[in-house]
Amino acid sequence: MQGIDLERADHGLLDDLRIVATPAARGLSQLVLRTDVAGMPLEWIDYKEAARLYHQEQVAYTCGSLLYELYGGVNARTGRRTVLEVNSIVATVGHTGNPGNTRHDYVPPLNNQTLFRRDAYLCMYCSQRLSSRELSRDHIRPFSQGGTDVWTNVVASCRRCNNQKASRTPEQARMQLIAVPFTPTYAEYIFLKGRRVLADQMEYLVAHFPRSSPLHDRIRAYLS
Ligand SMILES: [Zn+2]
Repeated sequence: MQGIDLERADHGLLDDLRIVATPAARGLSQLVLRTDVAGMPLEWIDYKEAARLYHQEQVAYTCGSLLYELYGGVNARTGRRTVLEVNSIVATVGHTGNPGNTRHDYVPPLNNQTLFRRDAYLCMYCSQRLSSRELSRDHIRPFSQGGTDVWTNVVASCRRCNNQKASRTPEQARMQLIAVPFTPTYAEYIFLKGRRVLADQMEYLVAHFPRSSPLHDRIRAYLS
């Protein structure tokens, strides 16, 4: 990996570093899935971060498909241009600082993007599939009745159902949830957070979901 000046790349001085995205990457914004050395999913990183990990010799092995080729400077000794290949999944050694990886009771942060993805963009009352713009976060047990803003008390809901339910529980409003809300595991959360998850990355992440994960069926339904 010698020859690629990552310090300069960090500062946006990429003139002597040529990056080629393969067709699989469909552009430079495709993120790479980073895992620990045991293969546990950790985070999404961009190609620069991936290149830095290679440079620091933290990459233990790679999986998935080739996404980027980074052509560095010409090695003065050999006269050859260095090239670094970055795959869609890289396993890394060393300290991770990832709480989800070590703590069993880890609860990922709740936000609408991952919530709507958890619920497969379906209104959990009328099962209509909508865009994230048309969905809202419904509190199953409303705040006014002691409900809290946690994964197991929230679902994606269309505005109509949300308005109809108002400050009532589903029982009080005589409305039924189509699925039980759940707290994602860390691997599920990484999947839900992915902006564009490639088929090989998805397959990798799905293999780390609990066997009982509702996401297995939802992904299957979504792909069919
Ligand atoms: Zn609805």
